[in-house]
Amino acid sequence: MWPSTSRAARWLAGWVGLLFPPHCVVCGREVEGPTPLCGECGKEIRRWEAVCQVCGVGIEPGLDLCPDCAVEARSFAWARSIGPYEGVVRALVLLVKYEGERLVARFLAREMAELAMGEAKVVTWVPPDPLRLKKRGFHGAELLGREVARALGLPARPLLRKLAPSPEQVGRPREERIKAMHGLFSATKRGRGEPVLLVDDVMTTGATASEAARALLAGGFGEVGVLTCAHTAGKE
Ligand SMILES: [Zn+2]
Ligand SMILES: [Zn+2]
Repeated sequence: MWPSTSRAARWLAGWVGLLFPPHCVVCGREVEGPTPLCGECGKEIRRWEAVCQVCGVGIEPGLDLCPDCAVEARSFAWARSIGPYEGVVRALVLLVKYEGERLVARFLAREMAELAMGEAKVVTWVPPDPLRLKKRGFHGAELLGREVARALGLPARPLLRKLAPSPEQVGRPREERIKAMHGLFSATKRGRGEPVLLVDDVMTTGATASEAARALLAGGFGEVGVLTCAHTAGKE
């Protein structure tokens, strides 16, 4: 017996398995090739029939805007997400956010890249709280942003910094939530009017993306479009 050889073989198989997981990350079915999702789970991804022209959330077909965008100015020009934050998409987002799964990030990013509008010249992401980045060692929105950039053939750059942790928002009225976000981000460098694609994992009220976009505009960058994996609200 050569225990060291079998250990080496297991070690190697472990790495190959990590690089090309042969099983669906959601249901565990075997999959072919370096994809994280089986065909069945792929079909489970839900999309909206009609979306708000501004924030991309699902709305009643025939309408142009969601109730929020109808009354509130957004600093981003447009935002789109794959669909509602539930089921398969939610499971995939959590794998990127808490496990830093690159293959899953790449899969989601390809879906997101299909939804890109406008003429972005550079891709960036909503930055994390500085302490949280230290604790986890990776940042889900950055993994997604870099993969979206790769899918679109654009450069990925850290253009934003977060100046303070996000305020506790639960239970706050909408206007207060928006006010509490003011000045949370600043641009890391001066732009020259380049349009930017801003990436984040999930959009909830859109206040974070809008504030991050405002910081980019204030930093001299051009129009900001937003891509997220999912939106937590929306009309079925
Ligand atoms: Zn599956
Ligand atoms: Zn909207």
